[in-house]
Amino acid sequence: MMNLNSPIDEIRNIGKTKAARLARLGIKTISDLLFCFPRSYEDRTLVFTIEDLDELEWLVPVFVRGRAATGVMSVNLPGGRSMQKARIVDDEGSVLNAIWFNQNYMCHTFKAGVEYIFYGTPEKVGQKWQMTAPQFERVDTYTESIMPIYSLTAGVTNKMMRQAVRECAPVISEVRETLPEKILRKYKLCGIRFALKNIHFPLDFKAYEKARHRLVFEELLMLQLSLRNMRDRFASKKCKALDSTMGLTEFVEALPFKLTLAQQRVMQEIMDDLKGKRPMSRLLQGDVGCGKTILAAIAMFIARTSCASSVMMAPTEILAEQHFDTISRLFDGLCEVVLVKGGLRAKEKRELTEKLSDGRVRIIIGTHAVLEDYVEISHLGLVITDEQHRFGVNQREKLTEKGNSPHFLVMSATPIPRTLAMIVYGDLDISIIDELPPNRKPVQTHCVNEDYRLRINEFMRRQIEEGRQIYIVCPLIEESEKTDLRAATELAKHLQDDALADFRVALLHGRIKAKEKAEIMEKFALGEIDALVSTTVIEVGIDVPNASVMVIENAERFGLSQLHQLRGRVGRGDSKSYCIMFNQSKNKIAVERMKIMKQTSNGFEVAQRDLELRGAGDFFGTRQHGIPQLKIANLYEDLHIWGECMNAADVIIRGGLDEDIVNPFVAKTL
Ligand code: ADP
Ligand code: MG
Repeated sequence: MMNLNSPIDEIRNIGKTKAARLARLGIKTISDLLFCFPRSYEDRTLVFTIEDLDELEWLVPVFVRGRAATGVMSVNLPGGRSMQKARIVDDEGSVLNAIWFNQNYMCHTFKAGVEYIFYGTPEKVGQKWQMTAPQFERVDTYTESIMPIYSLTAGVTNKMMRQAVRECAPVISEVRETLPEKILRKYKLCGIRFALKNIHFPLDFKAYEKARHRLVFEELLMLQLSLRNMRDRFASKKCKALDSTMGLTEFVEALPFKLTLAQQRVMQEIMDDLKGKRPMSRLLQGDVGCGKTILAAIAMFIARTSCASSVMMAPTEILAEQHFDTISRLFDGLCEVVLVKGGLRAKEKRELTEKLSDGRVRIIIGTHAVLEDYVEISHLGLVITDEQHRFGVNQREKLTEKGNSPHFLVMSATPIPRTLAMIVYGDLDISIIDELPPNRKPVQTHCVNEDYRLRINEFMRRQIEEGRQIYIVCPLIEESEKTDLRAATELAKHLQDDALADFRVALLHGRIKAKEKAEIMEKFALGEIDALVSTTVIEVGIDVPNASVMVIENAERFGLSQLHQLRGRVGRGDSKSYCIMFNQSKNKIAVERMKIMKQTSNGFEVAQRDLELRGAGDFFGTRQHGIPQLKIANLYEDLHIWGECMNAADVIIRGGLDEDIVNPFVAKTL
């Protein structure tokens, strides 16, 4: 007898080969299959007559009912191919022509005079409706139902999925309820068995809605609980309060600028956290260039005067080095700052270990190399990560081991709408810097096509002559890495040989060794390179105030938030800055995106528009936000359920439960 834990090859018609294919979708057991939800549905309850088709433009397949006026006629086409044709009519005499290719056998299966339901996309050819390669089924065997459509992989068809799910439908009766009775009642949720049955084969749309609502609720509730769990895991630890602010006022007053109001507010929030006996878990969100680094420095200053060490981690060596420079300058004459990166020699490691273990050095900047075992930090009290989005729990635990539950500050320049931030970063408190330093001028943004190439080249020359520097960014995505890389290389060569022949052009991309990359960046920062052609490796954090122009090639291939980040690389100095986006696409969404970029310079607004335009799936599609993969909930469209889930989580946490929550499908979310 099959049960929930049976391997899927126990299902009839599923052998070892199909099982291996399904395993690629993460489906190994019957339970996996039942908890693999359809991605959409085919509504077989909605069947049109041919006459109904008129006046509309059909972009998706529909069901159409009609009688075969003729049998199938086959014509031979050149190249050994053939075409099959049939004339379909309805009672009103409207005509639909159906055509297929290379399906000679249909002459036997398809009968004149029989009524069929066809499934395909209707198109108007001349005065008549036509469907190419429609599927069809006799009216008398057709079931009016809502049929699931699953996400597939090579060698797995929808039909196969449907059959497999149907075969194991009886096992649904074994599924234990996964939510507590009182939650079901309080939030009027249907039971798990009803939900499973109706998510796969809905009785009707009402049943489907009920089923989906419950599953979404459950998924969001589990997400909520695991976020809280994560938060509690760290919040329940005792830590050292970092409460000495000796010399802080002088430190802040010695800065070359006055903190913005937003910076002051966040500084207070951080100070309040650091004073506490519970470790801070704070996310600091703020647009590129809003000045987060100085807040990191202030936090490290407080840690130091409170006799604790701080680590600040960046995702790349370039960024770590840049932070090292900035922070070293800020602490010049106050204390030593060290940089920890990968690939240190034994002797260097030994020296470093000595400095760190006796507490001579309290401020450590580095890459992930700081996580390595040899790095022993005495009295680690504060960890700051820059641009890491979701720092893994494991990594955080590793650092917690190094210190005595250090305070934790996560900095991110990827703004996401506040409502969503509460979900995605539910385990963290959130601070937002929503104000740019006053000296910033908005970056003038232009969207151009290839016709402007020469003019833009001329513009770049003039800017360089005036002493400015330029970024030129080319897209690089994994799937087309080779061609992308070639394009970037060629562009750099072309600029150096031709358009910018008198100037210094350099190329930076991910394949270049870290050391060389750092050298190039260094040169650019020192003004020894005029134009830097690069793939998106410069996306985060780089700060070169003299760079005033950002040219983005194939801008249509970047997400809005990404474009915004790139734009934030310029406009950091005193001179007027420009962002020029080359866009070849006439695609509506691409055009709309370019328009938004011109209209708004606020990162949170850009993010909100991006979300509206693309929906949560794509918005979070890129892993950069670190959002867990959700099985059924859509963070954007299901936002209204989140509130209820918060409530439910309270009920569960406060009231405790008589029964454990067993949850087969959301366990892996975080
Ligand atoms: P981000 O938030 O993107 O990390 P940074 O911390 O790199 O931004 O700051 C960008 C630039 O703005 C730096 O050159 C920094 O010195 C400067 N800056 C930061 N705060 C202020 C301020 N209050 N007034 C003027 N300039 C500031
Ligand atoms: Mg930064």
